[in-house]
Amino acid sequence: MKRRELIRQAVMAAVGASVARAGAPNKRIAFGGIQIECSTYGNILSRMEDFTIRRGQELADYRPFSVTKGYAPPFTPVFLASAVPGGPVERKTYETLKSEFLGRLRDLLPLDGVYLPMHGAMFVEDMLDAEGDWISAVRGVVGERCLISASYDLHGNLSRRVIDNIDMMSAFRTAPHIDREETHKRACDMLVRCLDGGIRPTLVWAPIPVLMPGERSSTEYEPAKRLWGRLPAMNARDGVLDVSLLVGYVWADEPRATASAVVTGTRPVELHRIAAVLAEQYWDARAEFRFGVPTGTMAEVIAKAQSLATRPVVLSDSGDNPTGGGTGDRADALAELLRMNVREAVFAGIADRPATEACYRAGTGSTLALQIGATLDPAASRPVEATVKVVFLARTDRPAGRQAVVSIDGVTLVLTARRRPFHEIKDFTSLGLDPTRFKIVVVKAGYLVPEIAAIANPNLMALTDGAVNQDIEHLASRHRVPSYPFVRDLRWSPTTIVSARSRS
Ligand SMILES: [Zn+2]
Repeated sequence: MKRRELIRQAVMAAVGASVARAGAPNKRIAFGGIQIECSTYGNILSRMEDFTIRRGQELADYRPFSVTKGYAPPFTPVFLASAVPGGPVERKTYETLKSEFLGRLRDLLPLDGVYLPMHGAMFVEDMLDAEGDWISAVRGVVGERCLISASYDLHGNLSRRVIDNIDMMSAFRTAPHIDREETHKRACDMLVRCLDGGIRPTLVWAPIPVLMPGERSSTEYEPAKRLWGRLPAMNARDGVLDVSLLVGYVWADEPRATASAVVTGTRPVELHRIAAVLAEQYWDARAEFRFGVPTGTMAEVIAKAQSLATRPVVLSDSGDNPTGGGTGDRADALAELLRMNVREAVFAGIADRPATEACYRAGTGSTLALQIGATLDPAASRPVEATVKVVFLARTDRPAGRQAVVSIDGVTLVLTARRRPFHEIKDFTSLGLDPTRFKIVVVKAGYLVPEIAAIANPNLMALTDGAVNQDIEHLASRHRVPSYPFVRDLRWSPTTIVSARSRS
């Protein structure tokens, strides 16, 4: 029997055995990593205090990774450092985290497998390709024999260095991301199957010189809906273990910032073909990527909302979206709401620790004059001066968890001590606010996540200024490779690249 057929049968046997607690129990697997999305256009450094670090058992018990408990070989947690997207990671913070991660990994040697759940769009001060640095350092510790499976956000950027140091990859297939746990499972299943079957898979990558913001490439809308919709059928073919398609991250001024098709499996010819086809399909659809909801300036979308009979109209302050890498401290949308004398509006929220603290000092029911906004990046925007009434103060022991609800004329505003998104209804209700009772709800967001989208009647996107400005054609660049839409008449045909791991 041909070697290829033997491999295929081994893979299929492993797949069949993966129903419950699959895999040889004597294999040693570790998992963990670092997840942050960084706009290189933001000026605010992400420091140690911005990361939530789950070590050991806390990571094992962390719900998004509960899948790791479902295999016979134990997945030993190292740590997962994750942060709200932001500006570049401070170099010292990165080096400290990396050195702890590598140290803990060394303590677990020898390892047969490592699962690295990463985001893929981290930017570290004075460093291009931070994930390439992290992942190649992990490879250096675990050695050549160990298999590495990585999972990425759909908005991660790949590089030759990353591809050459991993054996397999899975990326989210939805934006908004509602398949995190499924993606983790794909990455872990694949790792266990390969370890079980003694398989060193082939990894093929096809970079695509197209860069779109997430707001123009949501999988809820065309063309992304059909492009990503094809992946499961491709994944079901013989010799294919995983098919992933990544939008990439446009606010990263790095050579690696592109879209990508990446395919893992045991039949190299088929993998090359799928990667090339996917890349070509994405390229051919490049002019179709559009915003999924109506857009305009903040003044335009406010006026539009006021003209509608429906409620609540949800307005996205997209340029300052903290979950995309925006700073989250800008008050321009508030200035516009006040200038247009808007009534029945709630704005959640502006990150402003001094204003939040002032509200706590003053107490509920008091009236005070505040300067609001532009505290984190004073050079990027201007504050708003207003007299506010303190309506509600969140009860918390943590200074960073403080949130104040204030009212200014017809606008109810949430001030937060820390940068944070308002993505869930409970983010409002925990502050005594029912967003459905307002005419206008303003959130710092790009595309809406499902819970807020469900109440939006309708959603309008304001194309506002900020570190994740949607006017991408005018983003300055020093490192970006020629790509669409920055080079409109670019000529291109797909090239597939095999991981050095698969070649060795
Ligand atoms: Zn993402």
